[in-house]
Amino acid sequence: MSTNLALFERAQRVIPGGVNSPVRAFRAVGGTPRFIRRAEGAYLFDAEGRRYIDYIGSWGPMILGHGHPAVLEAVREAAGEGLSFGAPTEREIELAEEILKLVPSMQQLRLVSSGTEAAMSAIRLARGATGRAMLIKFEGCYHGHADALLVKAGSGLATFGNPTSAGVPAEVVQHTLVLEYNNLQQLEEAFALHGKAIACAMIEPIAGNMNFVRAGLPFMKRLRELCSQYGALLVFDEVMTGFRVGLRSAQGLYADQLPGFQPDLSVFGKVIGGGMPLAAFGGPREVMQQLAPVGAVYQAGTLSGNPVATACGLATLREIQKPGFFDALSASTRSLVDGLSQAARAAGVPFAGDCEGGMFGFFFADALPQHYSQVMATDKERFNRFFHGMLERGVYLAPALYEAGFVSAAHSRADLDVTVAAAAEALRA
Ligand SMILES: *Cc1c(COP(=O)(O)O)cnc(C)c1O
Repeated sequence: MSTNLALFERAQRVIPGGVNSPVRAFRAVGGTPRFIRRAEGAYLFDAEGRRYIDYIGSWGPMILGHGHPAVLEAVREAAGEGLSFGAPTEREIELAEEILKLVPSMQQLRLVSSGTEAAMSAIRLARGATGRAMLIKFEGCYHGHADALLVKAGSGLATFGNPTSAGVPAEVVQHTLVLEYNNLQQLEEAFALHGKAIACAMIEPIAGNMNFVRAGLPFMKRLRELCSQYGALLVFDEVMTGFRVGLRSAQGLYADQLPGFQPDLSVFGKVIGGGMPLAAFGGPREVMQQLAPVGAVYQAGTLSGNPVATACGLATLREIQKPGFFDALSASTRSLVDGLSQAARAAGVPFAGDCEGGMFGFFFADALPQHYSQVMATDKERFNRFFHGMLERGVYLAPALYEAGFVSAAHSRADLDVTVAAAAEALRA
């Protein structure tokens, strides 16, 4: 049997950093990543045979837990019929219909293979549809690794962003304006200065890539108004929140509180693929009709709408629509966050947590952060110690303080209790 350490060393010889996506390497928290051999329900099992309660859920998709029987059955059946055709299938229509039924802001969508691809394509579409180049993104929101989105704020609103990755030419991000999340004043100023040049503003409505930060209602309301006023498209990146925070996704939550609220375009991924590579972007028919082959905005994909991935996504979406699904999931997540909060209070550790549906976040801080620099100012040393304390006790949290956590329908009361007990110990240690 190989140890995690032996596998990590072997992996580093053939794969940069030993991983195929950076955060998996545990760089933020230190230590050896666990190499996962298999997963079942709420649990991951590593190469050394150790079991962990999984609060990453493949970074969001595994809302039913691992190996849900209905999903596995659908995947097996689809695989038996063929892995990929590069031609249209009825199942793609079914998946599109299923998603559109639950997201009234969209009349059409296109399927792609990753969230990165969906966000990138949505931006091209927004630019094509408006005939404008500029886009607004908010610091701490992640929309995949397309060039135009790997950008941090320049100095002041009159200047544009700087690349956050080598290999991204400054010219490529010169149309991207980066604003602070939840900062109304910056938003006003940015639209006053550039409004008529802005193609779209892209936002994670509940940011899950800076742990868990909600866009406040007044902020979201004003963002919607300014986009409409200046003819820019409001793009909701719901790759993480979609069908995860509720059946109507984050946009449903905002619509509950801001009557008539809708984004113009939406981007989905993660849960809609149920663990297979599948994502989507969509919006009103007249905007979506700008896409090739109907319109002039080019976008394509060899594996887009893959028959096995669509079967997996469809089976997942059908399960989460069963009566009471989100009530039960929300109650589990809430009880976890409450339990962690009580454990922290008993240990005298500052703690602030929040959750929605099956997504949660917590900070070692007195209050919930409202934007990225507040997130990064929370207690990182304590988070890292807590992360390892939990891992040693068989609880697998995301290995960085800027990541959200996920609870699945497979997490039992006992799993949550074990987790809270582990936290109480880890926080006292
Ligand atoms: C995960 C994520 C993406 C990128 O999706 P990939 O499938 O990893 O390319 C984009 N936006 C958000 C909000 C995400 O959480």
